[in-house]
Amino acid sequence: MYLANLFKHIALVFRHKSLVFVHCTKCGLFWRGLVHDTSKFSREELFESAKYFKGYRSPIGVCRQETGMSRAWLHHKGRNKHHLEYWYDFDCEIQPLMPYKYAVECICDKLAATKTYNGKSYTPDKALWHWEKYGRRTPANPKTLAFMDRVFADLAEHGEKFILNKKYMKKTYEEICL
Ligand SMILES: [Zn+2]
Repeated sequence: MYLANLFKHIALVFRHKSLVFVHCTKCGLFWRGLVHDTSKFSREELFESAKYFKGYRSPIGVCRQETGMSRAWLHHKGRNKHHLEYWYDFDCEIQPLMPYKYAVECICDKLAATKTYNGKSYTPDKALWHWEKYGRRTPANPKTLAFMDRVFADLAEHGEKFILNKKYMKKTYEEICL
């Protein structure tokens, strides 16, 4: 069972990575798409995620629910700059702003995760729903949050083609964050 889940988890990570790669490339971030989430293959993340693998939701959440914490997540968010939590600094009046390329990678990641876990029932407004319910409460720079708010709202309203391109991302980031 464990070994089967290990392989299923690896397959899911590759599926997720390929989706993020497609999204990132459309936004002109080929390299970010290529190296996305490589730490998921480290022993700290891989074995925990295989143990708590479910397929329809993140094993990190399952582990957290069952044991009270996820070491895989602590390892992951400390190394991956596309996570809002990476940019959290203790006792700052204003949290650090997430740089452009990671902010775009973050959106590509959340979009891919929403697609993966929703399967056939995915619709563009689900990414916005997920962002508002879970992502938005992360302590982050207000400009980073405002950028995410706008992009997910535009995704829900105008669809994927509208947001997944370099011109839109650059313009929106410059307008809100700079
Ligand atoms: Zn990640």
